[in-house]
Amino acid sequence: MPFRIGQGYDVHRFEPGRELWLGGVKIEYPLGLKGHSDADALLHAISDALLGALALRDIGYHFPDTDPKYKGADSKVLLKEVAGLVLQKGYKVGNIDATIVAEQPKINPYVPAMQEVIAKLLSIEVEQVSIKATTNERMGFTGRQEGILALATALVYSE
Ligand code: MG
Repeated sequence: MPFRIGQGYDVHRFEPGRELWLGGVKIEYPLGLKGHSDADALLHAISDALLGALALRDIGYHFPDTDPKYKGADSKVLLKEVAGLVLQKGYKVGNIDATIVAEQPKINPYVPAMQEVIAKLLSIEVEQVSIKATTNERMGFTGRQEGILALATALVYSE
């Protein structure tokens, strides 16, 4: 099959006293996200989209949060491992399209840096990485600023 597509979804709850990491970029904000790893919801959603495209289960399967090895893990390392699995299967990344849902902080100023980090990890061009940001119009858990949600779609192809 020359093309395959996958989707990813992730949510992390805000927690004081933690750094906020999104898309592999540190964001200056009084709250961070709670998680076993660095809780980078965007990189987790992208990882799941890539794994999903190749029916390779999910990041919880590959990097269990019960494993002390992944405590405080840098999600960039996890995404790079996922990129390796994609290659092993004989596929390349076509494009990534992702959305971050957050009321605060404002994501847009960080998008170019995120695109660069993600493109590098996946060995693709910046133009192949789309990151969009939206609020939830102050509704629901993201609207109440309880956490951040990320969605991603990934297309992979074989030549
Ligand atoms: Mg996660």
